Amino acid sequence: GNNLLGKLKHEETRSADGQRIRVSANISLPDEISTVADSGAEGIGLFRTEFMVMKDAQLASEERQFQAYKKAVTAMPDQLIVVRTLDIGNDKLVDNLEVDNYQLNPALGMRGIRLGLAHEELLRPQLRALLRASAYGKVAIMFPMVTTVAEFRKARDIVDQEIDHLKQQGYDLADDIQVGMMVETPAAVTMADQLAQYADFFSIGSNDLVQYLFATDRTNDDTKSLYQPLHPAMLRSIFRVIRQAHTEGKWVSLCGEMAALHVAEPLLLAMGLDEFSVPADHVLSLRHLISGLSARQLQPVLHKALSLQNASEVEQLIKKTLPDLY
Ligand code: PEP
Ligand code: MG
Repeated sequence: GNNLLGKLKHEETRSADGQRIRVSANISLPDEISTVADSGAEGIGLFRTEFMVMKDAQLASEERQFQAYKKAVTAMPDQLIVVRTLDIGNDKLVDNLEVDNYQLNPALGMRGIRLGLAHEELLRPQLRALLRASAYGKVAIMFPMVTTVAEFRKARDIVDQEIDHLKQQGYDLADDIQVGMMVETPAAVTMADQLAQYADFFSIGSNDLVQYLFATDRTNDDTKSLYQPLHPAMLRSIFRVIRQAHTEGKWVSLCGEMAALHVAEPLLLAMGLDEFSVPADHVLSLRHLISGLSARQLQPVLHKALSLQNASEVEQLIKKTLPDLY
């Protein structure tokens, strides 16, 4: 009941066997942070900045972005706020930006980190604003749609250059700003061991990863039956990413809609996922679920799920094994 949830709100989330899990929230606008601060969320796992930065297809100035990020980090002072750099590229958002955006296949074209690296005039003001906000709270920087190790290293170099510039200009910055990346392409899954040597953390973008793994447009109703987050192909990909990150001592979040999918949550816990980032109104029920589950006891279910052939078999397995939950 409400008392139980009220109590959970003031404690760290732990599984029944004592694993520390962070349950964070996703936001798209700085104003949402006041709702999130009351939701029981233990941080922001994904701040999608495209809506705030690209008003009327105009890039917000460094100063305006700085004010917005500062507001976000001061609203949740002790908690990690993961801000994703602009993830634009396939719609009207870029109309006025002198970016040639005609693409026959935009989901496979110039978007995410590709656009940021090709147009540093978009990326650098955002990075400077974020780095300046680091003086006021715990901010982490995250790059979207990374496909290769070279892309991530290049982006990280640009962050380092901006840190140097700002310090030369006398700005006060945090000295432990984490720089991580979304894992949402099959190539990033395959190269997770090498990417984990350069990234401070991973956040699995399941919405896009399912799309690219099954080669099915996430917005196309005709091929919706192939869009299966619970499919063993997806579960194996996630498990691989988590294990390889942990080998390098790095942590892993999942910030796509799958993190709020009830039947997926026990499996993600069993895999060792470190953070779930979900809509604010899902935070407390997830914290409650995790506190009642033992990651260790779920190992046989996880291994069975990984050996199945399709998503509906996985769903049936979970519902049969954990009947109280569903
Ligand atoms: C994702 O792809 O899962 C994700 C969180 O990013 P977006 O939905 O913004 O593409
Ligand atoms: Mg995505």
